[in-house]
Amino acid sequence: AVQFAKLRLAGFKSFVDPTELWIEPGMTGIVGPNGCGKSNLVEALRWVMGENSARRMRGGEMDDIIFGGTTARPARNLAEVTVLLENSARTAPGMLADLPEIEVTRRIERGGGSAYRMNGRETRQRDVQTLFADLGTGPQSSSLVSQGRVGAIINAKPEERRGLLEEAAGIAGLHARKHEAELR
Ligand code: ATP
Ligand code: MG
Repeated sequence: AVQFAKLRLAGFKSFVDPTELWIEPGMTGIVGPNGCGKSNLVEALRWVMGENSARRMRGGEMDDIIFGGTTARPARNLAEVTVLLENSARTAPGMLADLPEIEVTRRIERGGGSAYRMNGRETRQRDVQTLFADLGTGPQSSSLVSQGRVGAIINAKPEERRGLLEEAAGIAGLHARKHEAELR
């Protein structure tokens, strides 16, 4: 399967300086003292997969994810998150199948909205969202369990639970494609 291999952030929330993390196969947990940036890391991963709700990013508007400055450091006007996917088994969907690595980048400029690149080429948000849906994940993936989510899953409405099951069954990407086909 396609593996999430690396996460790279710059100017994103508290991660003002360029930061790189390897994502090892299997389950990953993030631990650390209060306020060290654990939730911010999970949010970076959700954001690069196409999260579009500022509220779900714990902000009032999307620009709030850009480093806002501290008493010691000025604010930034740019944030960028990249996720590196390893496709050594060549199981990526569609035209990506032959690529050994897929790098997805999302960048936001203060007041200028955000843009995506896939292996350096500008890409529509919808294509990024469809890619991650095809891979059985996405910004709302049940495999990203944040604080408070465990209770939310237990208390989910039936249709929300169906969404979780569809995602686990790997058919969420089909829905995204069907929706796009209907729009044409
Ligand atoms: P907890 O254990 O309390 O859940 P955490 O490790 O999940 O903490 P985060 O919520 O990821 O911590 O990080 C919180 C820190 O990120 C706070 O210090 C907050 O000021 C900082 N932060 C959030 N958004 C920004 C921003 N846009 N610019 C600068 N710092 C930010
Ligand atoms: Mg937290």
